[in-house]
Amino acid sequence: MDADIADILGLFSDEERARVVEKAMAGHDLNVDEIELLLKSRNQDLLALGIAANYLRKKTVGDIVTYVVNRNINYTNVCILNCSFCAFSRDYRSPEAYFIPVEEIVKMAEEAWNLGATEVCIQGGLPPKMDWKFYPKVLKAIKSRVPEIHLHAFSPEEIWYGSKLSGMSYSEFIGTLKDAGLDSVPGTSAEILDDTVRKKISPGRISSSEWISIIREVHRQGIPSTATIMYGHIESDAQRAKHLVLIRELQKETHGFTEFVPLSFIPYRTKLAEVVGGPPSASEVMALYATSRLVLNKYIKNIQVSWVKEGPRFAQMLLDFGANDFGGTLINENISSMAGAAHGQFMSPVEIRRLIVEAGRIPAQRDTVYRTLKVFDGIQSSTPIPLETIKYDETKFGNYWEMVRKWRYKA
Ligand code: SF4
Repeated sequence: MDADIADILGLFSDEERARVVEKAMAGHDLNVDEIELLLKSRNQDLLALGIAANYLRKKTVGDIVTYVVNRNINYTNVCILNCSFCAFSRDYRSPEAYFIPVEEIVKMAEEAWNLGATEVCIQGGLPPKMDWKFYPKVLKAIKSRVPEIHLHAFSPEEIWYGSKLSGMSYSEFIGTLKDAGLDSVPGTSAEILDDTVRKKISPGRISSSEWISIIREVHRQGIPSTATIMYGHIESDAQRAKHLVLIRELQKETHGFTEFVPLSFIPYRTKLAEVVGGPPSASEVMALYATSRLVLNKYIKNIQVSWVKEGPRFAQMLLDFGANDFGGTLINENISSMAGAAHGQFMSPVEIRRLIVEAGRIPAQRDTVYRTLKVFDGIQSSTPIPLETIKYDETKFGNYWEMVRKWRYKA
C-alpha cells in the first residue's frame, strides 16, 4: 500500500470506516451500506475522510480548479407542478408569472456572448398548454444569431414535458432538440433518485426511472449532461447513498456525465421549510462532497462546488473535500436566490479566480464539456474580458424580477 494512503487510513478512529476508505482508494466500487457509513462521518473521521478525498482529487485532476463563464436564462416561472422545495415557480394566474419571448432570450444570449460567456443555461417551469415547438425554436433562434455559444438546456423534466406535448418518444424529441442546436443537458430534476422521497416532495414529477431513461437516451444520442443531487431535506443517508450508486452505474454504462454537482437544499422560502428546519449542516455537506469523490472518482472526475448554495468562503473549503470545479458566473441566477440563498446572482471571473488562488489552487477557465480554455497564473484581473470589468449591475442584469416583470405570462 502507498505510504500516503496508510497514513491517511491511520487518521480514522473507526476501523470499519477506514476499511471502506481503503477499498475506495484502491479503486473498488462501494456498496450502499459502505457509502452510508462514509456519509455519517463526523468529527475526526470527517476530517480524515476529507483528507482521503483531497488526496484522490489531487491524484486524479491535480490542483487546477476550473470554472465556466455562463449565463442562466430561466425563461418562465409558470409551472403546472407544485414541488414543495421550489420557491421559483408561480401559478399561471399569479401577477408574478412571466414568460420571456424568444427574441428577448436570443438578445440575452447574445449579450452574454459579447461579455465573454461561452454558455447559456436555459431552464424553466412547465406552463399549462405550452407550445412544445418553443423548445427547438429557442435553440435554433440562438444558434442562428450566436452560433458558437454552447446551449446547455432543458432538464429531464422539461424533456419529458416536451415529449408528452408533442406526442414524440423521448428519443424523437431529444433528436429534435439536438437538430435544433442542443449541446448538453443539465442533470437537474434528479433531486433524490428514490420514488418514496420524490412522491413526498414533488408529487407529479418524473419518477427516478423516467429521469434515468431520459438521461440514458440523451447520452445515447451523444449529448453530454451533468449529474446532480439535491439533498438535505427529508431523505436518509441510505437514500443519498443509493442515489450515488445509481449515478455511478449509469455513468459506467453511458460515460455521458461531465460532472457531479451536489446541491444542498435551501429551504427558507419553500413550503418544505415547514418540515425541514434549515439547510443541511456544514458537516453533512462536507461528508457528502468527500464521499462523492470516493464513490465517483474513477467514473466522474469533476465534482463541482456550488458557490450559490454554499457561499464563497465555504465553497473554498469544499475544494479541500474533493471538489475541483467552481461552477459558473451564472449571470441572473435566481432559483436558489428565490429560495433564500444569500450569495448573489452573479460572480465575476476575477472574483472566482481570487477565491481559487486564496484556496491554494490554480484557476482555469473551461468550457461546458471541460475543455480547458485558459490556465491562469494567479488572479490576472486585467484580462480584457468585458465581464471582468463590471460589477454586478442591478440595472443591467437584475433585479431579475424587475427585468422579467415586463414579460407577463399570458394564458
Ligand atoms: S422544481 Fe421545476 S417542476 Fe417543480 S415546481 Fe419548480 S419549476 Fe415546476
